[in-house]
Amino acid sequence: MFGKTFPLFKVFGVRVQADLSWLIIVLLVTWSLAVGVFPAQYKDLPPAVYWAMGAAASFGLFGSIVLHELAHSVVALRRGIPMRRITLFIFGGVAEMGEEPKTPLDEFLVAIAGPIMSVLIAGACLVFSIAGSALQLPAQVTGVVWYLGMINAIVVIFNIVPAFPLDGGRVLRSILWRWRGDLTWATKITASLGSSFGMFLIFIGVFGFITGNPVGGIWQLLIGLFLRNASAMSYQHVLVKNALRGETVVRFMRPEVVTVSSHVTVAELVEDYIYTLHHKLFLVTDGTDWSGV
Ligand SMILES: [Zn+2]
Repeated sequence: MFGKTFPLFKVFGVRVQADLSWLIIVLLVTWSLAVGVFPAQYKDLPPAVYWAMGAAASFGLFGSIVLHELAHSVVALRRGIPMRRITLFIFGGVAEMGEEPKTPLDEFLVAIAGPIMSVLIAGACLVFSIAGSALQLPAQVTGVVWYLGMINAIVVIFNIVPAFPLDGGRVLRSILWRWRGDLTWATKITASLGSSFGMFLIFIGVFGFITGNPVGGIWQLLIGLFLRNASAMSYQHVLVKNALRGETVVRFMRPEVVTVSSHVTVAELVEDYIYTLHHKLFLVTDGTDWSGV
């Protein structure tokens, strides 16, 4: 799923790593806040202050996403689900679990933990920012904290859309799964909602692009495409897992065994066996006994 990644740190036994695309987004966010958002909202500050505010807000955004993913991870570990790692990438973060939750309750608790953490961060930031303004703390500080409150609120709103594999989609899937006891059906419903929401984002992205908001438009378009792809893959994953459940190797083995004498040259093997029979493995025999594959 990811390209080149690099390790960052380890917390509560969970490794946090970043995809290279994350670095690009950190720089883009810092830049757009330092030259666009903050100068428009807080007038007449030196450029260095805007850059410091942009860097601080970017760092806070990074911390908020790590905390959101950590909330998923810690609850998963508590429910006995092994955690692989947290990966930060262009669209945020992913808590990669070693296996899928085994019960609807596990899935519900793991999924809801992230948005709850983001609600807490958003609330704390907004309260701090309002109290800070009343206490006449510098606008540089309250502005950054206000921004973090708003961005966490947006993370919550986006994540509670019941579109699988977003958190809201996972919550809905766990409820449907519990209701009918059918994980495949629950995944089918929520993944199709995920796909529809992706389509909706693509639509408003294209609309934004042609009506004078090219950056926001492209962004929504990319997230929409990503979501459609992720929902389709998640559903296929469940289908394949179901199809293979309980199957034994005998179902997938080739009953006819082709043997190759150990004296056959590689050229003969390629010409006479691989090109004609298209098998990937041949049993190599040494007269009467087999010597390898
Ligand atoms: Zn989440």
